[in-house]
Amino acid sequence: MRLPSINTLRRVAVPLAFGGNSEQQHTYFAELHRVGMVTQLLGIIAYSLTWLMMPEPYHPNQTHAVLALLGMLTSLIVRYRCTTLPVLTITGACAVLTLTFGLRTMADAVHHASFWVLPVGVFMTLAIASIFNGGLSYLAVVAGVWWNVGHGLYPVNAGLPDESWAPLMIAVSVLFGLALNVSFSLLRLRNYHSKVELTRLAFQDGLTGLNNRRMFTQRAQQMHGAPHGGMLYFLMIDIDDFKVINDQQGHDAGDEVLVRTAAIIADKAQGHLCGRLGGEEFGVVYAGDREAVRAFAGTLVEAVSQGFLAAQFVSISVGVAELDRGKDLGHSYRLADEALYLAKRQGKNRYVIA
Ligand code: GH3
Ligand code: MG
Ligand code: MG
Repeated sequence: MRLPSINTLRRVAVPLAFGGNSEQQHTYFAELHRVGMVTQLLGIIAYSLTWLMMPEPYHPNQTHAVLALLGMLTSLIVRYRCTTLPVLTITGACAVLTLTFGLRTMADAVHHASFWVLPVGVFMTLAIASIFNGGLSYLAVVAGVWWNVGHGLYPVNAGLPDESWAPLMIAVSVLFGLALNVSFSLLRLRNYHSKVELTRLAFQDGLTGLNNRRMFTQRAQQMHGAPHGGMLYFLMIDIDDFKVINDQQGHDAGDEVLVRTAAIIADKAQGHLCGRLGGEEFGVVYAGDREAVRAFAGTLVEAVSQGFLAAQFVSISVGVAELDRGKDLGHSYRLADEALYLAKRQGKNRYVIA
């Protein structure tokens, strides 16, 4: 039997430990950074109060108590400054473990330390469920918590009739914590997918899958503004007599024509920016010289008129204008629109260069 490779192990372990691919981790980082800061700050306050309220005859080990506080403060500072989810997870783990080490130091100073194992352990297990994304990292930290609060003190309440309740309570709190942790992680995952979908919808035309007008204009503006690009042409494309198609064959058939026309344009545009500007109008920003754009416009007109022949006749008209970097984008849009108007006037199913 072949053992899994390091890469396979990493592909499985990283999402389990940190909850997703690098893009997801980026989103989770933004969500976890602040909530973890607040939780860590509350931990430091709780610890400091515990220390301040240490009853009189007892004295905690000063070195351990100070080390724990320093550990918590360092983790907080590193967390504040870090920029990736794995580092965030590690600082969170350090903060939790130094806090429980500190609380154990306090408990060790009183003579019934084992009383505090369950309340501190259960509380920590549940309180940290929301600040780790990925069940594996959470479970690893929880194991550290229970070791910190209880090593040398297990079995808790030994010899008493209710002795067996302690392990039950530990098991139940860990399971509850894991369920909470997983549901928080799932919420974050759902949130991530909604965000991706919303971004897609904001920039993509829902019917044809091309860039929508907003995305097209934004990217055309970037290309237009780039100082060292070559010649650019703007093509305004409009389906001829589309209203007739809609009226005679129905809106669904009209949609079908839009989708197929978009596919033909995207296929011929081959890496040049294209998009749906609205209705039955499309745009392409073509990078190349005048001869190349002339050939491209001719190919487009030809491809659409051939593309539907089996079922019906569909054609497009195209207005072409140079994207003049000295003038604003609207100027070229207007020129292309005028050229398109001429193409329609001259009988459609053709292109005109402004
Ligand atoms: P011309 O050859 O001069 O371009 O005439 P035309 O009929 O193509 O142009 P007109 O502007 O008169 O009609 C465009 C039609 O496109 C009107 C509108 O109802 C239809 N339309 C706009 N968006 C959609 C859509 O998403 N789906 C469908 N099926 N029709 C649409
Ligand atoms: Mg139109
Ligand atoms: Mg039209």
